[in-house]
Amino acid sequence: MNIYSIKTNKMEKTILVTGGTGYIGAWVTKKLLEKGYIVRLAVRDKSRTDKYQYLQDISEKNEGKLELWEADLLKMGSYDAAAQGAEAIIHMASPFTLRFKDPIKDLIEPAVNGTKNVLEAANKSESVKRVVLTSSVAAVHGDTIDMTESGLSEFTEEHFNYSSSPKHQPYSYSKVAAEKAAWDIAKNQANWELVVINPSFVMGPSLSKTSDSESINFMKDMLSGKFKSGAPDLQFGFVDVRDVADAHILALENEDAEGRHILAERTAGVLDVVNIIRNEFGEKYKLPKKHAPKFVLMLMGWMFGISRKFVKNNVGYPLKLNTTKSIEKLKLKYMPLEQTLKDMVLQMEENK
Ligand code: NDP
Repeated sequence: MNIYSIKTNKMEKTILVTGGTGYIGAWVTKKLLEKGYIVRLAVRDKSRTDKYQYLQDISEKNEGKLELWEADLLKMGSYDAAAQGAEAIIHMASPFTLRFKDPIKDLIEPAVNGTKNVLEAANKSESVKRVVLTSSVAAVHGDTIDMTESGLSEFTEEHFNYSSSPKHQPYSYSKVAAEKAAWDIAKNQANWELVVINPSFVMGPSLSKTSDSESINFMKDMLSGKFKSGAPDLQFGFVDVRDVADAHILALENEDAEGRHILAERTAGVLDVVNIIRNEFGEKYKLPKKHAPKFVLMLMGWMFGISRKFVKNNVGYPLKLNTTKSIEKLKLKYMPLEQTLKDMVLQMEENK
């Protein structure tokens, strides 16, 4: 439904955004507001103004308009009203934490049931034409060893994580289960299209001061010296949070966008990340200088919340992600990791 805005003097589009108070979501919301969209921000608790006041300030200074709606992934039907009249939904809300008590209740239920809840709201509305879902490369692959064991030279959008479970890598399991549920729902209707974004590990400055995303925790741990005696020899894809936001908007606006999109500027080891930070900031932080031996991680990994099986199947294995589709079809331009990490550290210093 297009709404004529007196403020901007033009027709505008209404987008329902879930997870807009999060690390990635705040950047998506900011960019939508800057582009003049009407953003229906679904928040869990309107009284927590600290989670969205800065987005209201951004809205005041820009063409777009911010509306606040209350909804929770675990309250069935709570997105229905906000979806009525929205032309698209960007569904990003899902817990991204490795500090959980109960993997089913804390990760899998909000991810899977929450996705069903939001997509059912799309089904009930007559206005929604597109849903952009934030999945993850965790829905593409599980343990890093899976690439070598499957005889692959790289992971592409064709692959789905088969090795994670509620007991082993439950966050990754929550993402693959939620994305599969989304494709099932999408296939059984004809009113809206599903476009999926599969970011690798997201880095870069945070607009949100309340996010507990593992992206932020990882950098906090790194800078505070948690890994100073040795970094795990783990490979990840890395992508800038601002590029992830752009990808969501390209997926929303590009009529031809379809299917899944792996996002990564490059794959790199934890020590490569450390070296980039050291090159920029010298010896200001207690950064590791070498890899922690695998057998030490097998014995001591529990201190960092990682299991023996995780160490066995992930430490020391190569990883390659094919990102051609994001560049050629989505037309995403990636920021170099060096810039991403520099901006993230500077922003964390600024926010103390
Ligand atoms: P954040 O933790 O910063 O954001 C999570 C968002 O989900 C918040 O807005 C949070 O709301 C919302 N949320 C969580 N639980 C509920 C609930 N029960 N009901 C309603 N909203 C809820 O994480 P990120 O920004 O890092 O992650 C956003 C998305 O991106 C997730 O789907 C994540 O899996 C995915 N992703 C993240 C990557 C990364 O490296 N950061 C990589 C790949 C994918 P509130 O503010 O109220 O807590």
